[in-house]
Amino acid sequence: MPVITDVQRTIAALRTDVCALHAELTRYGLVVWTAGNVSARVPGHDLMVIKPSGVSYDDLTPDNMVVCDLHGRVVDGQHAPSSDTEAQAYVYRELPHVGGVVHTHSTYATAWAARGEPVPCVLTMCADEFGGEIPVGPFAIIGDDSIGRGIVETLRDSRSPAVLMRNHGVFTVGATARAAVKAAVMCEDVARTVHIARQLGTPLPIDQAHVDSLHERYQNVYGQR
Ligand SMILES: [Zn+2]
Repeated sequence: MPVITDVQRTIAALRTDVCALHAELTRYGLVVWTAGNVSARVPGHDLMVIKPSGVSYDDLTPDNMVVCDLHGRVVDGQHAPSSDTEAQAYVYRELPHVGGVVHTHSTYATAWAARGEPVPCVLTMCADEFGGEIPVGPFAIIGDDSIGRGIVETLRDSRSPAVLMRNHGVFTVGATARAAVKAAVMCEDVARTVHIARQLGTPLPIDQAHVDSLHERYQNVYGQR
């Protein structure tokens, strides 16, 4: 009988998780066609599990997720990995606390990215999840590590788990892939609501002290303990 090692067991579980989390991107209307992706770090190993490139959301299975090293090279998988693999690998290399990365072109958030404008922190849920405005990262061309560098440079000094890459779309990070998906869902919701608020007048800012206390409470006290 073949011996199944702990890392194989971990990867099998992450293939299932990462595959299932893609259903949240379609459920919340964050992606069209094959755009967007979720990845997860393999804890304790320089590996990640990510969506295959160009495969329809309906055809994603745990088996066709791709395992790559943290330089984007395929270690296990039948398909080419997502074209965002290099960017996400760079994030895992530079930010050791990150366990999951998500990328979408969700409409409202990407409309802010198209203008290069951060989403201001004018909703308590924005203070809760993002700890302030949702920042904008630099314009970067796909194909080398410039997207990864832009994500890391922007998020390193921010409490936000989301960055709006200019003229492109949203990248979010989290301790787990699930947390990164949640940040992507919240990012779109906040971007949409603030966009609508803008149509009707000027959204009111929240005092920095309140932003800080909301964020602190949400991150440390809120929810099931
Ligand atoms: Zn993209």
